[in-house]
Amino acid sequence: MNAFNPAQFRAQFPALSDAGVYLDSAATALKPQAVIDASHQFYSLSAGNVHRSQFAAAQKLTARYEEARTQVATLINAPDGKNIVWTRGSTEAINMVAQCYARPRLKPGDEIIVSEAEHHANLVPWLMVAEQTGAQVIKLPLGAGHLPDVEQLSSLISSRSRILALGQMSNVTGGCPDLARAIQLAHAAGIVVMVDGAQGVVHFPADVQALDIDFYAFSGHKLYGPTGIGALYGKQELLDDMTPWLGGGKMITEVTFDGFKTQPVPYRLEAGTPNVAGVIGLSAALEWLSELDIVQAESWSRGLATLAEDELSRRPGFRSFRCQDSSLLAFDFDGVHHSDMVTLLAGYGIALRAGQHCAQPLLAALGVSGTLRASFAPYNTQEDVHALVNAVDRALDLLVD
Ligand code: PMP
Repeated sequence: MNAFNPAQFRAQFPALSDAGVYLDSAATALKPQAVIDASHQFYSLSAGNVHRSQFAAAQKLTARYEEARTQVATLINAPDGKNIVWTRGSTEAINMVAQCYARPRLKPGDEIIVSEAEHHANLVPWLMVAEQTGAQVIKLPLGAGHLPDVEQLSSLISSRSRILALGQMSNVTGGCPDLARAIQLAHAAGIVVMVDGAQGVVHFPADVQALDIDFYAFSGHKLYGPTGIGALYGKQELLDDMTPWLGGGKMITEVTFDGFKTQPVPYRLEAGTPNVAGVIGLSAALEWLSELDIVQAESWSRGLATLAEDELSRRPGFRSFRCQDSSLLAFDFDGVHHSDMVTLLAGYGIALRAGQHCAQPLLAALGVSGTLRASFAPYNTQEDVHALVNAVDRALDLLVD
């Protein structure tokens, strides 16, 4: 593993020459040259589909495609590549659990506990399945430090509780709840736990065995990989219990007009030609990441967020919604609408996001209609922080009388 060198790291991202000051990595990360090259090579040089053809090029591609599952398994310490189901991303993975695992099991009156800090991707699928089955969604409220109050689980869990849906890291506050404790409380009551790892995986991939996680979802594009590819990890016995939601090629062993027999997982849950290019790109991203000292890189990004928070906090009306020492900095200024501010910042070449960040219940709990969010990645620099602060000063001059 190489020591983290900010300048060398940054030089691997061609989009930085065009993206201005890019502070939106929590929405999607920029792609390093290694991922761009792998995707380009895939489309230039590979031939054939996976799991279908006997000729050498297709066999080679299939082997590479399957090897990528093992890379994901290594990333999150899953027991085997067969525990990894390819999806389009975190959203699809969570919907798959809701529809293929929960829906056939939930009975009217059963309860799904969802934290108030969740991204809509880990709330709406549960609201949908609750509507379909007569189950109820129960809120695990925010507690101290804008974190889901995990200890409240002891009083929320009832004999009707079936599922707990909890994010590893908030995409707004950057807060990370005590997953180990939440899972311990849930498992003591026989509840299955869905962990949304979309943000967390980028900073500290979960060890799914050490934490005893039942289902874990993440997206490739936040982890420097391509869009349209992600993964669902599930414990073997839980994946085995899932009813496929898509039927078609390669998920079956036998088909007649009387019916069909399905393949074992993960193939049973992956009907049709998969996103092979996405898998190859994600595989390249994981290989590239395995050379990175994630701890040092993370400490660099967090340092930048701290610097930005310190600088901005000297401006009147500044409020931070940052949890712990995260690399995400959600903030606003009293009396300044986030949309006005973000529009001006965009004009000054600062790429960041403002609004509700697909987390409306969380924003309501924080008592705001929206925030700005600067998300720092290891390719950002102190110059980026200064550019942000200068741009905010220019905007405040215009917006505050
Ligand atoms: N969960 C969290 C915490 C997220 O930040 C995101 C992406 N913003 C998602 C889920 C959904 O990810 P995707 O859009 O890649 O499916």
